[in-house]
Amino acid sequence: MQREATCSCGKLRALCRGEPKLVSLCHCIACQKRTGTPYGIAAFFSKENVQITGPYKSYKRSSDSGFGLVFHFCGECGSTVFWEPSRMPNLIAVGVGSFGESSFPKPSQEVHTECRHSWVAPLDDLRD
Ligand SMILES: [Zn+2]
Ligand SMILES: [Zn+2]
Repeated sequence: MQREATCSCGKLRALCRGEPKLVSLCHCIACQKRTGTPYGIAAFFSKENVQITGPYKSYKRSSDSGFGLVFHFCGECGSTVFWEPSRMPNLIAVGVGSFGESSFPKPSQEVHTECRHSWVAPLDDLRD
């Protein structure tokens, strides 16, 4: 299995081999600000299974847990495609929406539910 995540304009690409190790939905305000939507969803892959092509810019921020995160985005269109959580140095997070694939595996966890928008259904309610 191989999937490709891309930015809006297509210049920045992340080719990901195999299935994600974890798919996590985050309601935190920082993810809301990053995406402009009520939550962000990250698919975590082993670093060696992700191949990045195209130029990107980086933005570093700290997290609630005190571990830094470095977000990488296309300088042309501004889409964040992937990021590196310092707490999990062997993994790369890729934005699930960047794959543009409606059959992408569902999130297996959600975090920062205290920030969940009132109309967003809890993940448990969405299980098959
Ligand atoms: Zn772009
Ligand atoms: Zn978050």
